[in-house]
Amino acid sequence: MTARVRYHQAPSPDGCRWCGFANPHGLQYLPGKGGHQWEPPTDAQRLARMRARRAARTPKET
Ligand SMILES: [Zn+2]
Repeated sequence: MTARVRYHQAPSPDGCRWCGFANPHGLQYLPGKGGHQWEPPTDAQRLARMRARRAARTPKET
């Protein structure tokens, strides 16, 4: 996995594997990749996103 994008907020688990946009995605442009259509994320991406979302929702207990 070489495409690494930083998100302010975890994208939808079903968001595009490249940019994290969920449908309607349309034609999106990414630096280094150019225009692309929505592509399904890998299972690992879905899992990571779901974990990130859960972690973001959980208040830190400090
Ligand atoms: Zn995309």
